[in-house]
Amino acid sequence: MSEQIVDILQQLISPEVKAFLMGIVAIIAIFYLISIIWVIRDSYLRGANPIIWGIIALIPFVGAFAYSMLRPPMLLSDRDEQDLDFTLKQRELMKYGECGKCGYPVEREYLMCPRCGTQLKNECRSCGKALNPDWKVCPYCCTPVR
Ligand SMILES: [Zn+2]
Ligand SMILES: [Zn+2]
Repeated sequence: MSEQIVDILQQLISPEVKAFLMGIVAIIAIFYLISIIWVIRDSYLRGANPIIWGIIALIPFVGAFAYSMLRPPMLLSDRDEQDLDFTLKQRELMKYGECGKCGYPVEREYLMCPRCGTQLKNECRSCGKALNPDWKVCPYCCTPVR
């Protein structure tokens, strides 16, 4: 009786079926490996801890799924780009400037805000150029700032 069942099973599981099943197992294994590599790489790029996330990703499929739910929302390179944008904007503001009191755009040489009259810079007592309040010496004529 049991030999008959084994016979039927052996007939059922032909070499083609076996190869097909092996193929499915191989594909699942490859997806599993890729999911681990993806989690490690992605967590590294997002500034998370790739070792901890790599260990979590070892839990088949659940680990990678948990990571995709909990991963930090922004890529590190995106963040760098945003920082760069911010720095560029700030540099532009330093070039042209903005009144600290009312936010009106002012130019480098302005001593006063044309809108609200706030003193923006000191005037050099020797050459009359606009000096930043934290400058100790006039860079145009070398006169020390009092
Ligand atoms: Zn102003
Ligand atoms: Zn000067």
